Amino acid sequence: MSEDFNPHKEREYGDADFENNIRPQEFNDFCGQEKIIENLTVFVRAALMRGESLDHVLLHGPPGLGKTTLAHIISRELGVGMKVTSGPVLDKPGDLAGLLTNLEQGDVLFIDEIHRLSPVVEEYLYSAMEDYTIDIMLDKGPSARSVQITLNLFTLVGATTRSGLLTSPLRARFGIQCHLEYYDAALLYRIVKRSAGILQIGIADDAAHEIALRSRGTPRICNSLLRRVRDFAQVKGEGYIDLPITRFALEALNIDKHGLDQMDNKILSTIIHKFKGGPVGLNTIAIAVGEDPGTIEEVYEPFLIKEGFLQRTPRGREVTEHAYRHLGVVRQNGENGVLF
Ligand code: ADP
Repeated sequence: MSEDFNPHKEREYGDADFENNIRPQEFNDFCGQEKIIENLTVFVRAALMRGESLDHVLLHGPPGLGKTTLAHIISRELGVGMKVTSGPVLDKPGDLAGLLTNLEQGDVLFIDEIHRLSPVVEEYLYSAMEDYTIDIMLDKGPSARSVQITLNLFTLVGATTRSGLLTSPLRARFGIQCHLEYYDAALLYRIVKRSAGILQIGIADDAAHEIALRSRGTPRICNSLLRRVRDFAQVKGEGYIDLPITRFALEALNIDKHGLDQMDNKILSTIIHKFKGGPVGLNTIAIAVGEDPGTIEEVYEPFLIKEGFLQRTPRGREVTEHAYRHLGVVRQNGENGVLF
């Protein structure tokens, strides 16, 4: 059972009702990311006061930190509708044209994984973002001609985990850019308590704290752990989530005491066992663990660095003492060799 549990996947398999109930609906419900919330609140108010559409917003940061949630909140606070799509789904310019021409005045168009837009679709988006116009081809062959259509003013909210892959012309067209950071345990504790309250589950403070600590700095993971722990509490206990049942559940789910997931641990142990603790280049690590280098750099590495397991040096990535201790590996005196 524990092998299959992947909290990153919870959005795909989780039930939609749970997601809808638990997703913060207003800026006030959104825990953390204070600077971003403060700024967005001002920009939204200013747009409302002037009766204009909000400038385009780019949200970037690792998965599960609240980008989709923020997009929903922005449209709600603006009092407009929202259409949702994602980069890989928009195959050709026609797909985008259909969406754009259906937007009402001031609406939000949310494009998730915007770094995965195809170049032709991306180029098509430029004039829509800048001048609110698009060219549409009518007919085919010799009688083909293009007509320009003026769109309603809209706000594009783009979300990406891989901001490094965004082309500079696209990036430059976003007037508002926000980078979401990992959450600390105190914020995640508040999120666990809030979610438990909404779901009407009793939870002890120390149990909520334990879940917060093991959530890899990520609200999506803390919500999915809460659901799994609730299952254990209902089946094995009395339904109330206390610390012993939480520890039991997390143990059964194979959740690391620092909340690191399998790939995090694989990266650390590969650097230790195959590269004597580093320094080792990003591409080499990527090949060794079978993951894309960009994903390692933008999804896994920031958390490992933030938690002090890994450091970037001019010669490559190096694990720290903390990583050795975490994996229970003894480092040989003064050298990078490892005793098993
Ligand atoms: P992303 O789009 O960045 O992958 P989501 O917006 O889908 O992440 O958020 C994942 C889950 O975490 C959602 O269930 C959402 O309700 C919850 N969540 C995210 N950020 C917060 C927050 N700041 N406060 C409370 N819940 C949050």
